Amino acid sequence: MYQATSMKAEEFISDEEIRETLAYADANKDNLALIDRILKKAGERRGLSHREASVLLACEIPEKINEMYELAKQIKQDFYGNRIVLFAPLYLSNYCVNGCVYCPYHLKNKHIARKKLTQEDIVREVTALQDMGHKRLAIEAGEDPVNNPIEYILECIRTIYSIKHKNGAIRRVNVNIAATTVENYRKLKEAGIGTYILFQETYHKESYEKLHPTGPKHDYAYHTEAMDRAMEGGIDDVGLGVLFGLELYRYEFAGLLMHAEHLEAVHGVGPHTISVPRIKHADDIDPSAFDNSIDDDTFAKLCALIRISVPYTGMIISTRESQAVREKVLPLGVSQISGASKTSVGGYADPEPEDEATSAQFDVSDQRTLDEVVNWLMKMGYIPSFCTACYREGRTGDRFMSLCKNMQILNCCHPNALMTLKEYLEDYAGEETKEIGMELIERELSNIPNPKVKQTAADYIHDIAEGKRDFRF
Ligand code: SF4
Ligand code: SF4
Repeated sequence: MYQATSMKAEEFISDEEIRETLAYADANKDNLALIDRILKKAGERRGLSHREASVLLACEIPEKINEMYELAKQIKQDFYGNRIVLFAPLYLSNYCVNGCVYCPYHLKNKHIARKKLTQEDIVREVTALQDMGHKRLAIEAGEDPVNNPIEYILECIRTIYSIKHKNGAIRRVNVNIAATTVENYRKLKEAGIGTYILFQETYHKESYEKLHPTGPKHDYAYHTEAMDRAMEGGIDDVGLGVLFGLELYRYEFAGLLMHAEHLEAVHGVGPHTISVPRIKHADDIDPSAFDNSIDDDTFAKLCALIRISVPYTGMIISTRESQAVREKVLPLGVSQISGASKTSVGGYADPEPEDEATSAQFDVSDQRTLDEVVNWLMKMGYIPSFCTACYREGRTGDRFMSLCKNMQILNCCHPNALMTLKEYLEDYAGEETKEIGMELIERELSNIPNPKVKQTAADYIHDIAEGKRDFRF
């Protein structure tokens, strides 16, 4: 039985409900009156239910798809403006006891290089990341109670926050580790993490069990209910995601929205972010072995529909995707991207020689430097942002959501983007990037509507040029 408020995975992600939703969407994919009603509701910035959004996903009428894209662009602009937040993943350890068939870190892969960072390694990695200009990390580790226990993760977080190199600092650590207990989530919260991210991979239970044949991750319910435990442990910013390509994308899309609806119904707070990874080539993983892969147009449509269905949620796209794909989906709702990522363990300080066994989780499509990414974003009219303000100001969970839903968060995002960009330009940018950035800051400062905020931001930006750091709204 489908019930959004149930605490049982099989009830809040009901297979029967998804199948009925897909049948309903198929039956209505040419129902113009209904499609227009749904688009009207989306236009009121109220979000969409999984059923409504699934009708739009099934709809193949070109004019209506264009309307969806236009709406996604407007909603993105209204909620988040033109800032794009930048982050980098930091792989701590690729030891893993699970058997995920799409990931090269699976236990049976004997030729991948297994690595785990020591605290000294972390100092070198984080120093390298700070020297690029990063302020926000997402730490990643395989599931291995012996090699990567929670104490190890907590120690790594403490080390990361403690490193101050030149003007560098990591101000927000998001955590992407395996589903765990309420007690461990509480410890992560106490360690001062930003968002807890856990990809569902697939919402289709039968496929999930086949794709995770061995290890603790095999337990679909334990994995799917992880966000509820995280919330119980006090983490009120959680990040969802599916790995597109494993199952039928329409099934995953409905499941993802049902998960968001469940979090809102039970905790009063939907997902802080949604990530949209697609399966990619990696050591011993061939993406063509998975027959549900989606083309770039479908991918763009999914991004646009996530944006209009869950307007308050940040959307993340990684360097798994090429520059061209990133350009295509940025205007459709993406609010956060990774830049200059290494998906190997220790890869920032010590890039792996090509003739040695790799420790990387997947191939990176977008291999540009952070300076190139910052430059590229600005040339497209975006403000690259290194902002980490919200959780540091206590704006998490429902406090963040109410600001975001009322479209007030932009009043913080916009000046914070300009101030953190200014820090980047002063400390790390190449000459051309600096020049473009300084002009952009001048121009964008004049777009701040509130005169008091405008003056304060201008004062802070002046102080940054004088050597001060870390201002925020
Ligand atoms: S996806 Fe995660 S849990 Fe699965 S093998 Fe890779 S690192 Fe381990
Ligand atoms: S103000 Fe908050 S929501 Fe906006 S970019 Fe900064 S941390 Fe993100």
